[in-house]
Amino acid sequence: MSSKITAEQRKAIMENDKTYDGQFFYAVKTTKIFCRPSCKSRVPNFDNVTIFRTAEEALQAGYRPCKRCKSGGDRLPDEEWVKQVETYIEENYALSFTLSDLAEACHGSPYHLHRVFKRLKGVTPLAYQQHIRMEKAKVYLIETDMAVKEIAGLVGISNPARFITLFKEKNNQTPRQFRKEYDGRGVYSEK
Ligand SMILES: [Zn+2]
Repeated sequence: MSSKITAEQRKAIMENDKTYDGQFFYAVKTTKIFCRPSCKSRVPNFDNVTIFRTAEEALQAGYRPCKRCKSGGDRLPDEEWVKQVETYIEENYALSFTLSDLAEACHGSPYHLHRVFKRLKGVTPLAYQQHIRMEKAKVYLIETDMAVKEIAGLVGISNPARFITLFKEKNNQTPRQFRKEYDGRGVYSEK
């Protein structure tokens, strides 16, 4: 059973109070992660918090265990964690964040995040974010008539010249060329 947070639980979370560990878990809607009261992760916005009595209940409600406080008991496998990070990047690709911001949001250390992500995905987390941005830009170029400058802003790159350079590096053509070629071809292929 889940329930609303009490003032006492709120205090326990803010103070990372170990004595409450095992009594309840708190799950955060925005990150889909649940933690022990003592977790050192950033204090959440309590409006987005749901309380569970057991880890099992949080898991059943679709929340994932936290890497930092090991709320799921057994160690969260690296594969699972990297999937969490991937999802976070895919949902927030347009935001600008540093490796530390990302690690904080995904409840791990920056060093570990960088290393594990690279090992499993072959690219660093920030390179992966750049990749997603370029893929989203392609979709905008194909499906909309928006100006390149506008698309750059939408995918989180405020400097259009930088956007064009990055796009060209990755696709061997400028956004304009890409759009034109696509229009001529009528079919979009991933390559
Ligand atoms: Zn935690």
